Amino acid sequence: MESNKNVIIIGGGVIGLACAHYLIEKGASVRIIEKDGIGDGASHGNCGLLYFSDVIPLCSPGAVTHEIHRTLCGTSPLYIKPTLDTKRLSWLLKFAAKCRSRPMHQAAKDKYEILAYSTDLFEQLLDLETLGCDFEKKGILTVFKNEKNLDKFTETNNFLRTYNLGYTRLEKNQVLEMEPSLAPSIAGAWHSTFDWHLRPELLMASWRKHLVQKGLIIEEHSKMLDFEISGSTITHVNTVKGKFAADAFIMATGAWAPRTAKQLGLNLPVQPGKGYSITMERPEVCPEFPCVLYEKNMVVTPWTSGYRLGGTMEFSGYSTTLNYKRLSKLINGATQYMRDPTGTPVIEEWAGLRPMTYDDMPIIDQSPTQNNLVIATGHGMLGLTLATGTGKIVTDMVYNQTPEINIHPFRISRF
Ligand SMILES: Cc1cc2nc3c(=O)[nH]c(=O)nc-3n(C[C@H](O)[C@H](O)[C@H](O)COP(=O)(O)OP(=O)(O)OC[C@H]3O[C@@H](n4cnc5c(N)ncnc54)[C@H](O)[C@@H]3O)c2cc1C
Repeated sequence: MESNKNVIIIGGGVIGLACAHYLIEKGASVRIIEKDGIGDGASHGNCGLLYFSDVIPLCSPGAVTHEIHRTLCGTSPLYIKPTLDTKRLSWLLKFAAKCRSRPMHQAAKDKYEILAYSTDLFEQLLDLETLGCDFEKKGILTVFKNEKNLDKFTETNNFLRTYNLGYTRLEKNQVLEMEPSLAPSIAGAWHSTFDWHLRPELLMASWRKHLVQKGLIIEEHSKMLDFEISGSTITHVNTVKGKFAADAFIMATGAWAPRTAKQLGLNLPVQPGKGYSITMERPEVCPEFPCVLYEKNMVVTPWTSGYRLGGTMEFSGYSTTLNYKRLSKLINGATQYMRDPTGTPVIEEWAGLRPMTYDDMPIIDQSPTQNNLVIATGHGMLGLTLATGTGKIVTDMVYNQTPEINIHPFRISRF
């Protein structure tokens, strides 16, 4: 145990809980300030993949033309609301500029390191008996409808093999034998063995309980308003329920980070990337493996306790209102790949906001303007997967220790 520090974490998503976990392990007294309930943000209804093999960033060569083509064909899972919002337009242009081979290779290398680090830490974390969350280590099936796409994935797989993350190709008969819940009209699949899955809202509930038993204090429905600052040191955070003092502060406010960082003069290029999910009871013919439905860019996740369809990406601001046209795309997509695509009853229809950076890398850094603030956001499509690595890096930063992996790719000054 190290010397006691009082730490306040703003934001009770999976990143906030992971930071709390490693800080408490180190001996810190930790309080989480959350505007809604713990785990009510993006960390609630996501697809639950611990997608450790996902080293290839979203901004890769051909990504923009591919999406324009799919938009014109009406098959794109992406929707960008027409806007004059200069921040969103600038974000989109910078994303497009990153879709080149060199930045893609560098980002993959950098992502690999934090993915591998998070894998090891999750291995230890999920050994804790108190963290019940329907966790399984079965890998993922990436399923294809189109023979050409199935063949073309060989190129992606060759790239993954350079990181020792190669998948196994399964011809149609092989995959139907392994996963009989898939429709006979599919072309085939690639199986990764490096990825795991769990039920995110169960993880959030059991992790919260575990940490509260270890001394975590939680202030829910306590929206942070602003900071009180003396020189370059934050002394207090003001919330709708009063003010709190601490030695160190962590900003883990996900997609809302540009708003909570504004007072500090920080311009964080994080855009909310809205995604949807539908959670049901298990269908009669339920898959054994989580499936990524390649052409639809969506995920089917089975658990012993239920079944979820999730995906789509909308750049339309901060509203989490459900758009039923987008939700029905998930059902339509699953219908094309699964024999029994839906279970009854539907338990929850949900939308959440992913914190997206234009280079698809998280932001994990000391604030450049305050000496006792660490910022941890921008985890995009992989916040659950990268939670443990992020929590550990943040804890090392709070204790002025050198993190165990290279943190240069996550610095704020890259923007
Ligand atoms: C449909 C979908 C599927 C996904 N699937 C996966 C997956 O399979 N695997 C994976 O790894 N990732 C997945 N993700 C991404 C993942 O959900 C996110 O990256 C992750 O949840 C981000 O965690 P977070 O803690 O940063 O943000 P959040 O969970 O959004 O938490 C941020 C918290 O900060 C709080 N907050 C904001 N402002 C304030 C304020 N002023 N005061 C106090 N509190 C505040 C919010 O209320 C919120 O609770 C998916 C996302 C979506 C939408």
